[in-house]
Amino acid sequence: MILLDGKKVSKDIKDNLKQEVLNIINENKRAPHLAIVLVGNVMASQIYVKNKIKACEYTGIRATLIRKEETVTNEELVSLVNELNNDNEIDGIIVQLPLPKHIDEQLIINTISSTKDVDGFGIENKGKLFSGLECFKSATPFGIIKLLEAYNIDITGMNAVVVGRSNIVGKPMSIMLLDKNATVTICHSRTKDLKKVTSQADLLVVAIGKAKFIKEDMVKENAIVIDVGMNRDEFGLCGDVDFENVSKKASYITPVPGGVGPLTIAMLLTNTLLAYKRK
Ligand code: NAP
Repeated sequence: MILLDGKKVSKDIKDNLKQEVLNIINENKRAPHLAIVLVGNVMASQIYVKNKIKACEYTGIRATLIRKEETVTNEELVSLVNELNNDNEIDGIIVQLPLPKHIDEQLIINTISSTKDVDGFGIENKGKLFSGLECFKSATPFGIIKLLEAYNIDITGMNAVVVGRSNIVGKPMSIMLLDKNATVTICHSRTKDLKKVTSQADLLVVAIGKAKFIKEDMVKENAIVIDVGMNRDEFGLCGDVDFENVSKKASYITPVPGGVGPLTIAMLLTNTLLAYKRK
């Protein structure tokens, strides 16, 4: 079994970004600039945002954090995003999800200019992804593709099974795997006999948010297993895959933490630099 070391691959990507940003600054140009909107005080969101800012600092990308109270209105958020859209000094905009219940998440995400939508969550970038056009790709699935590439894993013709069909992971993941010539099956909570489907996967990507849900009897011998899940159980942070037992069967597997998570941030920064260059 080979461990897919997302931490290392992410560091390599960030080191390359750091060099590129340094080259830009040495040409007396301004650094790429990411605006991060954070609403409320949800602890997990604050930690994610802190890590994103830390990674920006590491690479030399400028980060501006704009915090809003939990009570912010749709109108105020739309107006803020429009201000950021019109600011020529800002290349990328992200709004940390989830937003409070009274906020129309889709409205806010789709207000972000598609040229600054570095999370790739807006309908224009998603539509382009589905149409095979150049776009900002959602960071988590994009990171998984980069991880597979870093280990020279060619998935052409593989039977790929994605468990989870969210707009930010499962669905875009399926399209990116299809673009890499895998034969893709998408599973979800209504899939009948999930085990039968996952057991046929050469490549299994799991993004459901249920601690250690995928057991060894659900996985094919020598499968490549990518665990997107981030859960907490009585022992601490863990994925959607029962790592201890599944790792004995897999050919390659991502750990949690240290697998997919670090790549998500690296790809967000990659998209920010791309947005800067496209200007
Ligand atoms: P989500 O929006 O909650 O979607 C979960 C998906 O899993 C849904 O499509 C759901 O099916 C499916 N599902 C739930 N229970 C299932 C079951 N028993 N069998 C089969 N499918 C089932 O989740 P998400 O945003 O994609 O996130 C998934 C996990 O990845 C979470 O743990 C999250 O924290 C983690 N995550 C990690 C990163 C990272 O950077 N590492 C990034 C994003 C997310 P239905 O559609 O039928 O309800």
